[in-house]
Amino acid sequence: MVEVVVGHVRIVGAGLARRCSNELMHGQTSDGRPILGADALAHLKEPSSGLCWWCRDQPATTGEHKFKRADLVRLMAGDGLLLWGDGSDLREIRGKSGITRDRYEVVKFPKSLCESCNNKRSKPFDNAYDVYSAYVARTPLHTAPGVDLKVVFGSEWKARTLDLARYYGKHFGCRMVRTGTPIPASLRLFLDGAIDMPDAHMALITTDSIGKGYEPGLAISPDFVETDKTRSRFERYVLAAYVGPIGVRYEWCADGIADEQRSQFFHHPYPIINCFEDQLAVAEGRTRPS
Ligand SMILES: [Zn+2]
Repeated sequence: MVEVVVGHVRIVGAGLARRCSNELMHGQTSDGRPILGADALAHLKEPSSGLCWWCRDQPATTGEHKFKRADLVRLMAGDGLLLWGDGSDLREIRGKSGITRDRYEVVKFPKSLCESCNNKRSKPFDNAYDVYSAYVARTPLHTAPGVDLKVVFGSEWKARTLDLARYYGKHFGCRMVRTGTPIPASLRLFLDGAIDMPDAHMALITTDSIGKGYEPGLAISPDFVETDKTRSRFERYVLAAYVGPIGVRYEWCADGIADEQRSQFFHHPYPIINCFEDQLAVAEGRTRPS
């Protein structure tokens, strides 16, 4: 097996520290396999079709926000300045107009969705996420055993939690398009209304190396990809995205994931928060005791 990291960590937050931005980009896995750069997989990358990756029917004319506007505006309330870490680069955005202009394409993904899918079809997903992220940002959850989704969403928690998971599905799908990794069919079906994904798992997580430095911020993990020995097909992806110290981890396995290892957070009113030490542990699925 070969493991490859595609992409970088991007971090936003008023009190940003540079630590950990490239935590996973060098070195090896815990069982000694090398971690390679994205170039090692260039031959497997899917070129963009120019069509929306969700409906595969309309032209891709819009870019989904990497970080949602409501989150950025909330983070900006303190000093009106956001800092982005991306490898050795550090960029600033000043004022709300900087978010709108997005000169450095740090706020939005490249265009990969059609207008209808990115706005009308996914509106319930975006709305559920806004409610959830505002709750997570104001609630100390770092040491909590779980998140009470009945408190977050009230009596409609079942439908709205599925919509929240679909928001993350849309986010992760846009990241896959950006790095040229194929979108699993189950992800499209989940966004279309399926209530489970037999080859993917989504869990709530907290990661020590993210939580410590970036509590008021937002973070995106490196995109972790595993192939077969001959690097001829993708076998596994792991992607995560965080609000403060609480993230959603998505794992996809080409050969499917057994039911007992697939307790989806979006099926439970009080999903537990799985704890990880660092981003490599997240990629490898090695939890630490809570
Ligand atoms: Zn579309």
